[in-house]
Amino acid sequence: MMPVSTQLPQGVHVFERGWLSSNSVLLQGDGQAVLVDSGYHTHAPLLLDLVHQQLQGRQLDVLLNTHLHSDHCGGNAALAAHFPALQTWIAPGQAQAVAQWDAQGLHFASTGQHCPRFAADRTLQPGEHLALCGQSWEVHAAPGHDPHSVVLFAPSTGVLVSADALWENGFGVVFPELEGEDAFDAVGATLDLIARLEPRLVIPGHGSPFVDVPSALARAYSRLDHFRRKPMSHLRYGLKVLVKFKLLELQTWPLAALYQWAANTPYICALHRQHFADMSLPDCIDGVLTELASAGALRLEGGLVRDMG
Ligand SMILES: [Zn+2]
Repeated sequence: MMPVSTQLPQGVHVFERGWLSSNSVLLQGDGQAVLVDSGYHTHAPLLLDLVHQQLQGRQLDVLLNTHLHSDHCGGNAALAAHFPALQTWIAPGQAQAVAQWDAQGLHFASTGQHCPRFAADRTLQPGEHLALCGQSWEVHAAPGHDPHSVVLFAPSTGVLVSADALWENGFGVVFPELEGEDAFDAVGATLDLIARLEPRLVIPGHGSPFVDVPSALARAYSRLDHFRRKPMSHLRYGLKVLVKFKLLELQTWPLAALYQWAANTPYICALHRQHFADMSLPDCIDGVLTELASAGALRLEGGLVRDMG
């Protein structure tokens, strides 16, 4: 909720809004204002307030998306409606899907999430250097969590915007793996890239900015090693994240509606069919809910599931 200003270079603000929305990073300088990622659509009014407070009457010029998950680009449409001259730049690979608004290709429908339609003006090319707000930012491909993701690095300040490739404690679900594609090597290669960049400070896609990058990398490598040795634990983690994300959005959910949502969500059905078919889908979901409840992430009250933050 609050802009995190400590340790951040001048002209960089981070808007943190819990785990439903990704962080948004506001860059200002040289008469330009740029925002990286826009959060989940339900938080768009809050994002607009925060951006307005910081911009103090000036316009937002450019919106960049590190990748097109609904919790990173859900506020794009609201921002474009508010700032008519706004340029939206997206990571490459899905420009066609955005132009045609192919909800399947964009994975919003398959994950049971929603993202209001937006348009893109240009793609970010890995290897290019962007001049943003008087600073040079390198664009690096960062596949793994998402095959099309990029991360942004400013060599002059050592700041890395790492999206969901590296968090202080781990990294985002490796979505291609949920679809049966090998992507753990890509996660490892992206962590290697981050290690080579030697960032001074990382602004992750979720959670607070952090400076102890070597420790975060060590935790991420160890988590990756665990998933490689026990891929089923990663699939289960993916299932839990999909359910918890929807619960974060809805807060309170009748159990029957949750079962119905799961039965209509292709990612969950595919995961169930391919890996947990020894039990019914409701039994599989019950197992996930029990695990989330014992971790304190939700509470089961009669026929209701209640998010516990
Ligand atoms: Zn993501």
